[in-house]
Amino acid sequence: MVVVYEGTTIAAISSAPGEAGIGIVRLSGRASLEIAGRVFRARRGGSVADFKTHTVHYGHIYDADAGRVVDEALVVVMKAPRSYTREDVVEFHCHGGMVALQSVLELVLREGATLAEPGEFTKRAFLNGRLDLAQAEAVIDLIRAKTGTSLEAAVGQLQGKLSQRVRHLRQELLGILAEVEGTIDFPEEIMDSGGVSRIGLVVEEVKGEVEKLLEGAETGRIIRQGLRTVIAGKPNVGKSSLLNALLRENRAIVTNVPGTTRDVIEEYLNVRGVPVVIVDTAGICNAADTVERIGVERTRRELRAADLVLVVVDDSRGLEAEDREVLEAARGRRVMVLVNKVDLGAGRVQGEEIRAVLGEVPILRISARENRGIDALEDAIVEMVYGGRVVVPASALVTNIRHQQALFEAKKHLQDVLAGIEEGVPVDLLTIDLKGAWERLGEITGETVGEDIIDEIFSRFCLGK
Ligand code: GDP
Repeated sequence: MVVVYEGTTIAAISSAPGEAGIGIVRLSGRASLEIAGRVFRARRGGSVADFKTHTVHYGHIYDADAGRVVDEALVVVMKAPRSYTREDVVEFHCHGGMVALQSVLELVLREGATLAEPGEFTKRAFLNGRLDLAQAEAVIDLIRAKTGTSLEAAVGQLQGKLSQRVRHLRQELLGILAEVEGTIDFPEEIMDSGGVSRIGLVVEEVKGEVEKLLEGAETGRIIRQGLRTVIAGKPNVGKSSLLNALLRENRAIVTNVPGTTRDVIEEYLNVRGVPVVIVDTAGICNAADTVERIGVERTRRELRAADLVLVVVDDSRGLEAEDREVLEAARGRRVMVLVNKVDLGAGRVQGEEIRAVLGEVPILRISARENRGIDALEDAIVEMVYGGRVVVPASALVTNIRHQQALFEAKKHLQDVLAGIEEGVPVDLLTIDLKGAWERLGEITGETVGEDIIDEIFSRFCLGK
């Protein structure tokens, strides 16, 4: 096994910022053991470099220059290649205060480590061949998973379920590429032997597999990123009450996601495993003042970006001009209309009026105040996401837009191969698209992907991972 050592030894705080019982400073690279040895004094003696791999040792982190103990810690040694990065890795399990961790980090940096970039540990795992690109991407998905279903999908991808399928397809394509290229000087040979129809069959089969993967991709994307949902409606129809009803039923996962650049509030709900991101915006109405107008603009923008629009109307008032405006604004989006306040028994909103604007959309009668119809709403959301398909996250599920794009491009190449066969183009010309499909598939696992894309992917990781 070839272990590629990067030149530098990197270090970072790998646990989350904030106060905690334990915090971890991690080192990876050729000099990890040596650097750790200079700052760690084991209670039972011995030097870090001599510790057996995958053992834990108790001791103190010591700043020799200052002549003082920085922290009490456990050190874990994982020697190459049996480590996350396949390099020598040392972890200090320290006390989980930011000053303590920062002091340990500064000490190892002073002793020769370089501060790791976001995702650099995982990037090394990828560069050293421990994970392929799809698996490495699954690491960050796993960390960010919002529901058990999202987690399951990420774990499956980390285990290589998607990669295996993709590799198998590439293997098939490589087989026919080799066959075609082997006979390029004698094209008649392959024509005579029925080779072209054989190629056609394999390409059909690979294309079918690619299509299967693409079929689940929309659901996969939602399971990974969440179903972006906007609750729209004029003031006082019960939008906040609806959100509260949904929150009561579903533990909110995160409120006010930090780092979001959007100027709207986002709440995550776990609707039977489907992460639902509720985007809270000002209601659409004929706003006179500018502040409200900005709100309206924002709402329209959010409507365009939404996976689902929940339009709330008030059954006790009947449809008014403002409601129609909201319904109009939601046209062309995936919409469900919620006729709220049915507990008042007014029955002023008729389904036909809504269908006159939006056509056939799900219309649910609910009472946000009395929690009526909320279950049915959740059923409808889950049904919409899965679209009647059985999606098993435990099998290979495409959750990543980058992968979806690559599959889509691969499919186009395969279609062109089949069209070429149909038109009877010379066999050697088929290789261009065969190679194209093979390369696009390789982008998923990272075999045929540019350095810039790799850098971009890892830059989205958190520090210390
Ligand atoms: P928003 O402006 O659309 O967010 O509306 P709110 O959620 O603030 O609700 C406006 C008013 O309608 C409040 O007084 C709520 O208590 C009331 N309301 C909301 N949902 C219901 C419902 O299902 N039934 C009844 N009777 N009142 C409701």
